[in-house]
Amino acid sequence: MNIWQKLNPKRVVCNTCQGIDGMQGLPPARLRLVEPWKFGTLYNCSFCGRSWFQIDDQKRIDLIQERLLPLSHHWNLTSLSVGAAHLHKLAHIGGTRNPYYQYIGVPYSVQNASGQRHDKALVMFGRQPPYFWYRPETVHWANEIADIAASPYTLPLEVRRATFEKQEIAMGFAPVGVVSPQGQEYTLSWQSHFFDWQSVRGEGIRLSGRRDRWRKTVASVPVEEYYFVDWFSGCEKLLLSGASASGKD
Ligand SMILES: [Zn+2]
Repeated sequence: MNIWQKLNPKRVVCNTCQGIDGMQGLPPARLRLVEPWKFGTLYNCSFCGRSWFQIDDQKRIDLIQERLLPLSHHWNLTSLSVGAAHLHKLAHIGGTRNPYYQYIGVPYSVQNASGQRHDKALVMFGRQPPYFWYRPETVHWANEIADIAASPYTLPLEVRRATFEKQEIAMGFAPVGVVSPQGQEYTLSWQSHFFDWQSVRGEGIRLSGRRDRWRKTVASVPVEEYYFVDWFSGCEKLLLSGASASGKD
């Protein structure tokens, strides 16, 4: 009996999908084409009915977690874009590409239509529905963005980029050494967009250049909200360079 059966004794256990949310793999023979989706294709499993999504030019196919299926349908049926003014601001801060999940994330302070502001929001330019580890309440859409502003918690682009490029040296530990304006050294242990530790905030953080004997390890700051935007031709060129990366504003 696997862990899924223990947790859900009445559930159909599917050897193809293995019942483990978030599993990724190549398309198994059991998958049935359902319909073309935005940027890809929706499949389901002929045995257990779970849904899978494949981006058009990718071999990989991903299981859509069931709790995220309604949001994924909404993503498919909605055109998600931001206006030129927002795009200009986002390009200025710049984003990092997550090569595994195929999106560019730009950290920002976002005010939504009801006036709430979140200083640790991530604007996501991608080609896939919100189907993996998101908590559903954190998933939002481009058209909910009323206003955006630079967040004091955002790490400079060169620091963010370093954390995304760093390989793991131990399980879940891909250290990047950074230093605060006061000269305090920290170690970012994983891909990071923000920094918020004992009143030290991301904007003043710089790379320390340290390569070993890691100083205080600080866990990644959780993203409060994700705003999904459709991938478009040229978005990499626009978003990955970051006009502020050189420090010249
Ligand atoms: Zn299945």
